[in-house]
Amino acid sequence: MTIHDAAPGRDYIFAPPPVPALPVRGAPALFPVHRICCVGRNFADHAIEMGHDPTREPPFFFQKNPDTLVAPESGFPYPPASSDVHHEVELVVALKSGGSDIPAERALDCVYGYAVGLDMTRRDLQGQAKKQGRPWEVAKAFEHSAPCGPIHPADDIGHPAQGAIRLTVNGALRQDGDLDQMIWKVPEMIACLSRFFTLAPGDLIFAGTPAGVGAVERGDVIRAHIDGLDEIAVTVT
Ligand code: MN
Repeated sequence: MTIHDAAPGRDYIFAPPPVPALPVRGAPALFPVHRICCVGRNFADHAIEMGHDPTREPPFFFQKNPDTLVAPESGFPYPPASSDVHHEVELVVALKSGGSDIPAERALDCVYGYAVGLDMTRRDLQGQAKKQGRPWEVAKAFEHSAPCGPIHPADDIGHPAQGAIRLTVNGALRQDGDLDQMIWKVPEMIACLSRFFTLAPGDLIFAGTPAGVGAVERGDVIRAHIDGLDEIAVTVT
C-alpha cells in the first residue's frame, strides 16, 4: 500500500494538485504522468562537449518532477537565479507498464509511446553543483523545465531507434543528431532503471541529448524535431 491509498474517501486539507498529463496523438484520453527520469550523457558528442569521456560507462539518471512538464504552446518562462539556461532536445519514452528487473528483451513491451521533449537546464547552476559534488535539482527540476509534445502511441509509429533529432533557435540549427547515436538504447535504459526503481505506468524517460546544447534568451523560438513525431515550438518568455 502506498501513502496515497492510506486515506480512501477522506477529505484533504486543501484541494489536491491536478494530475500532470500529456495529450496523446489521435486519442482523446490523456496520458497521466507518474515520474520523470532523465538519462545523462547518452550521446558521445554531447558527453565530449561537456568535458567527459564518452566511453560506455553505465548510464546515470536524475529526475524532474512531473509538474515541471509544460505544453509547448504555453511557452517557457525564463527561470530566476540563472543567466545561462540551455536547451536539450530529447526523445521522451512513455511507459504503460513497469516492474523491477525488467530484461532488456522485454523492455519495449512496457512502452506506450514517444514524444519530443526539452530538458531545459540552468547550466550555470549545474556547473556549480558538479564542482561542489551537489545534487542537480536546482539546475534540472525547476518549474516549466520540461516542455513536451504529444505522445505518439507505439502501436501507430513503432519504436523509433534511428532518425533525425534536431533543434533550431530562431531558425538557426543548434543540435543535429540521430537517434542511432544513443549510447544506451531505450530497452537498455528501461532495464537499467528497473534495477533501481520499480517502474510504473505513467513514468517518462527523457533519453538524452545530442551535441549542440546552448543558451536561450527571452524572445527566442525553439523548435525541436524528431523524425516521425510532431515537432514542438516553444517561445522563451
Ligand atoms: Mn538532458
